[in-house]
Amino acid sequence: MAYETLTEKTAGEYARAKANIFSKNSELECKEIGDGNLNLVFRVKEKTPGGKSVIIKQSMPHARIDKSIIAPLERADIESEMLVLYNQITPNLSPKIYFYDKEEYAIIMEDLSAYIVLRKGLIRGNLYPHLAEHMGEFLARSLFFTSDLGLDPLKKKAMQKKFINPDLCKITEDLVFSNPYFDASNNKIDPEIRTRAERNWVDDELKSAVAVLKEKFMTQGQALIHGDLHTGSVFVTADSTKIFDPEFAFFGPMGFDIGAILGNVILNYLSQEWHLKNSDNKKAYQRYLLDTFRGIWMIFSHRFRELWNSSVTTPMESNPVYRENYMKRLFSDSIGYAGCKMARRIVGLAQVEDIRSIPDAEVRAKVQIAALDISREFIIQRDKYYSIEDVIGTVQNYPL
Ligand code: ADP
Ligand code: MG
Repeated sequence: MAYETLTEKTAGEYARAKANIFSKNSELECKEIGDGNLNLVFRVKEKTPGGKSVIIKQSMPHARIDKSIIAPLERADIESEMLVLYNQITPNLSPKIYFYDKEEYAIIMEDLSAYIVLRKGLIRGNLYPHLAEHMGEFLARSLFFTSDLGLDPLKKKAMQKKFINPDLCKITEDLVFSNPYFDASNNKIDPEIRTRAERNWVDDELKSAVAVLKEKFMTQGQALIHGDLHTGSVFVTADSTKIFDPEFAFFGPMGFDIGAILGNVILNYLSQEWHLKNSDNKKAYQRYLLDTFRGIWMIFSHRFRELWNSSVTTPMESNPVYRENYMKRLFSDSIGYAGCKMARRIVGLAQVEDIRSIPDAEVRAKVQIAALDISREFIIQRDKYYSIEDVIGTVQNYPL
């Protein structure tokens, strides 16, 4: 069948025909629930009480916000294969996948409507006590088992052939690593922070450091990374965490995934200057966010070392001096990429609700400038930090 976009009218019977989930005669209801700008997302549910439900995610041929951004339909092949892989190597930390339709570029998957997108949960000031543990575990296993440490080099290269994702990488190369650092036409800069934003355009120390991180993003096939692991790609409940939306996946530097989640936790931390401004809880919640930031790195690095010690036996790689050198480079990359991911959300095309939803222009500007200043520290200082505690110091000592 030729590719055709689904609608609320057609998606129900489509799901019944393709996934072996619904009974033959049950009445189905269907709603488009997508908020993204590249894909259609539908929820299909049996009307009967306690009825089953699924999510259908279908690729659209171009981005809704900017038609010049190219994202080929085949990214759904990558997303579905990634979800299959995550279900194998990081069990229970991603939605289950019921069916992938290569002709329609549509994925039928587990309905996680009982969950909330982490970004929204954090904006509300919710606590997720297991988040750091689950993210640390997810990062350690997904990165280790797709790198040369956890994978036979021939198998890894066979996978690299399959997971080449040039158009989506180009989106990141432009929106994260280029446009924020010059007067690009699709940047979005509030007038109150214009002067501060423009300062980055003439900051050669910063720009050359970002160029090094960009080069690494483009050339280091270290592991199969998610590629877009911000707080909008994570679903949570009080005791469960699911990572989704891996359509940007490719073989790139591990620190890009670790930094994506870390940087977005800091953006939320800063945004609490507004969201919890009248609450006695502000300080405690910001402390929780920094504990989560620290916890993600600590649990990641602990589990990653455990996997290394228990399964790496090759003569060159089992050397503990090499292992510690590797961990140090991972740490530096992660903090540098956290900084890059923060800045692009302040001045770039795609911004974040944490900060965009601050209605008071003065408070918003203060938070945005803090994000740019801290982002710069992260990028420039990334090799000089001794531990995650020093990185937290940069955030805590910032005069908000
Ligand atoms: P895009 O890549 O287009 O942003 P996402 O995969 O992020 O698409 O999905 C867009 C939105 O659809 C999510 O933010 C979420 O609200 C909803 N959604 C996606 N997958 C599921 C799922 N498995 N269960 C419930 N809701 C989902
Ligand atoms: Mg997406």
